[in-house]
Amino acid sequence: MMRLRFLTLALITGLAFAQLAPASASVKAGAACTKVGKITFKAGYKFTCIKTGKKLKWSRAIKVVVATPTPTPTPTPTVDTEPKAGDPPLPSENCGYGNFYYRINNAVLERSFYPDKLFTSQDSRLSTEFDLIRVKAYQAIRDHISTSKGAPQIDFHIALDFPTDELNALKQQLKLVTEYWSDRFQLGAHVQATFLTEKDSALIDASNTTNSVDAKWIMDTYLDPKNFGMTNCGWRNGIAGAHVLNLGINIGQVGYWIVFPSWHTSKDWDPVNLPHEFTHSIQGLIWSNNEVMGHRDDWIAYNFTEGGAQIFGTALAFPNIGWYNDEINRKIMDGFRGGPTSVRLAPTTTAEIISMLQISEKNDNANGSAWAYTVGFHLWEWVIANYGFDAYWDIAKGVSSNQSYDATVLKVIGKSKSDLYNEAAPYILKSFQAALVEQ
Ligand SMILES: [Zn+2]
Repeated sequence: MMRLRFLTLALITGLAFAQLAPASASVKAGAACTKVGKITFKAGYKFTCIKTGKKLKWSRAIKVVVATPTPTPTPTPTVDTEPKAGDPPLPSENCGYGNFYYRINNAVLERSFYPDKLFTSQDSRLSTEFDLIRVKAYQAIRDHISTSKGAPQIDFHIALDFPTDELNALKQQLKLVTEYWSDRFQLGAHVQATFLTEKDSALIDASNTTNSVDAKWIMDTYLDPKNFGMTNCGWRNGIAGAHVLNLGINIGQVGYWIVFPSWHTSKDWDPVNLPHEFTHSIQGLIWSNNEVMGHRDDWIAYNFTEGGAQIFGTALAFPNIGWYNDEINRKIMDGFRGGPTSVRLAPTTTAEIISMLQISEKNDNANGSAWAYTVGFHLWEWVIANYGFDAYWDIAKGVSSNQSYDATVLKVIGKSKSDLYNEAAPYILKSFQAALVEQ
């Protein structure tokens, strides 16, 4: 929540009475007193104990002028116009709980609480201010070095009316993520990258660079007037996807695409979007050559697919752990404040967390789908912190060979899925409660 700072008003009225001491009956000018400097009041007069020669006597009477009390002004709340690192995002207009604003300026990611001012590339918080699980998972992902000698070449397909600011930011991110994941690609591989608006039907239908299922979905989504509000809010960062192309001359290559509606004028850009989607293409490179992709949502826990894309996407998006942490909390809060009623759960027990994990195994277009990105995120954060970067990918690969998700979890980390849920639940609960503390 935005923090309000109240003006401290020092009220001086009646200050004299603060020092009022009981006046003895013998107080009068010239009468003996006992302590030099002592002040007393009597019948509207002030007396001070003074030394006269060797004696202590009350001074002459000084009439006390009592100030007319002035009405106490109502303290005026002043909006702190510069929220600090660690503050939650400011509310965004009609679209969810809150939002940070990001831009890339001279190749450096910057963040602000406002769309148009006070951008910074720095965050003052240290790693020691965050949970060790969070720090270890973030570092494990950030420290991963691809051993490949060369990143895949990127072939660009760009609609003429695609917004320039977003295009430049996305191109920079795409270069970074293809380098980061380069050892997952075969030598000489290409990535097809398509940046389009809903107007460019030729690019949407290009089976060599996207695929017809996506194209149909884009058209249905963007050209349906019922979805107009959604494209202005939840989807204002564009609808995107990345997968392995299954048709055309580029079959087997990764196709990343994003569509921006031409009518949306927002300068908003979400740094998690592209690295999240690109993680799906890395999953796809493992799962596309066998039966897994066709049965993905049946064979693999949805909280693995989406929670994994979300943690790699978020860790790769942000250059410091503070912004990474803030986005995790924002995502939880967004669901809590802006999600469907059933998603608005503030868990208080590990049993509730375990239930949320179980529900998030299925892409049910309800709670499960939403929680895959939040509780699912935390599950894999906990696994990567405790078992390392490769644990996640060994499970992804393992499912390809034995087609059993639960057996693969047991094989890779030496724990059954339910034991894993039990052990991770206290961390997830703690993190949810920290994120929801501002509610
Ligand atoms: Zn996803």
